[in-house]
Amino acid sequence: MAEAEAHSIVIVGGGICGLATALALHRKGIASLVLEKSRSLRADGAGIGVHANGWRVLEQLGVASELRETAHLITVYHDVWQQGDRTSREKVPVRTELRCLNRKDLIEALAKDIPAGMIRFGCRIAAIDADPSSHGAVLTMADGTTMKAKVLIGCEGTYSVVAKYLGLSPVRTIPRAVLRGFTWFPHGHSFENEFLRLRVGDFFIGRLTITDNLVHFFITMPKPPTGIHPHGQPGPFLRNNECLPDDVMNEPADVSTKDLKKVRDVALKEMQDVECPAEIIDIVRDSDPESLNFVTEFWYRPPWEVIFGSFQKGTVTVAGDAMHAMGPFIGQGGSAGLEDAVVLARSLARAVDDADGAGKDAPASARETMIGKAIGEYIRERRPRVALLSLESFIMGALLVRSPSPVTKLACVAVLILLGSKSLRHAYYDCGRL
Ligand SMILES: Cc1cc2nc3c(=O)[nH]c(=O)nc-3n(C[C@H](O)[C@H](O)[C@H](O)COP(=O)(O)OP(=O)(O)OC[C@H]3O[C@@H](n4cnc5c(N)ncnc54)[C@H](O)[C@@H]3O)c2cc1C
Repeated sequence: MAEAEAHSIVIVGGGICGLATALALHRKGIASLVLEKSRSLRADGAGIGVHANGWRVLEQLGVASELRETAHLITVYHDVWQQGDRTSREKVPVRTELRCLNRKDLIEALAKDIPAGMIRFGCRIAAIDADPSSHGAVLTMADGTTMKAKVLIGCEGTYSVVAKYLGLSPVRTIPRAVLRGFTWFPHGHSFENEFLRLRVGDFFIGRLTITDNLVHFFITMPKPPTGIHPHGQPGPFLRNNECLPDDVMNEPADVSTKDLKKVRDVALKEMQDVECPAEIIDIVRDSDPESLNFVTEFWYRPPWEVIFGSFQKGTVTVAGDAMHAMGPFIGQGGSAGLEDAVVLARSLARAVDDADGAGKDAPASARETMIGKAIGEYIRERRPRVALLSLESFIMGALLVRSPSPVTKLACVAVLILLGSKSLRHAYYDCGRL
């Protein structure tokens, strides 16, 4: 039988966190291999809000200035609550750096400095087993081929095979239908550089300015439109026509542009029924169909699992949503994954230096022990941070979608005050230099 291909560091998943981790390692002079199941870079979800903590990471990775050129600073949260004839408004200044990036720009900026050959597309990991000859793992691809990894980092998001190997429970879901997309204004728009958050009827709508010509929107719908579930499967649909067939972990199936337009039509009709402002209806109606993305669930790992979960087995670990999926409630999932990348690369680089310092004659097992310890350090550093973010997002989600009793509501608000949620304390975090 042919020998399995072997690599030092393998990263599963070429999303925000996987690419940031590969780039961070590359900046430290360490090679890795990213395995991505899609046939090309994927960037589902149109826009992504990146707060100051995420920008600090992008600076460490050397991609902040080019990305700042692509998106204006958002200076105001503009909250509007429309109930029948009454409309209340509040404008709160954003005191830290917040920009809404086109996910595609972010993904491409992270990928472009990763050397050719370090990202392998069309490579879906189906299973992970322990490697009896090392502290690492053996990966089995969907096509049956295998690969050995001395260090394995699972960055493959919510349906993580690596997280399963580590013994973590599957992520939990909250049913919630969200349509996202971009609208292009060829002659410019007249909106402020703001994050508009509008409640009207049972809709929660967001509009974020990206440039003078581009706007990102999301619409949280009361219920998903019926009759557009491909394969009759319930669950979220992620738009990416270039993905390989989903046959392994009951993952969400893709939804076609035709179905996305149907979702948009249903949303438009319902928005008209609740007398949503015409300006918002126009944005949704004129949106670019190719940019549309629709999910029917939010994924999260409860905070207690983040606090107590096992994130390491030998030299195998997880980062990004695979470790701490937290839903969109505080807009920190992506930035937290960026922070993971810097902390993990820093810890691994220190271990590689120590191992190199021990000399060529040092046994391989000593090197592996040093790398294992470095991964332990990474987890110790990240756990309190991501536990607090997960807790804040969980509580915010409970307030927004679960209609808690008055007592629970009071307790939730008290915890959010302690966490400094209103002043975005989480965005002031600095995960340090690479
Ligand atoms: C509606 C919504 C709005 C959001 N808004 C924000 C926001 O404003 N700001 C913010 O910071 N966060 C936001 N988030 C969260 C953010 O999108 C995620 O936290 C972030 O995308 C996670 O990045 P990741 O790289 O860990 O995982 P992913 O982005 O899920 O990337 C995983 C990658 O792994 C690949 N993959 C999966 N399985 C396999 C496999 N078996 N083998 C090989 N490859 C595999 C996938 O194709 C994908 O490319 C939002 C989330 C939602 C749902």
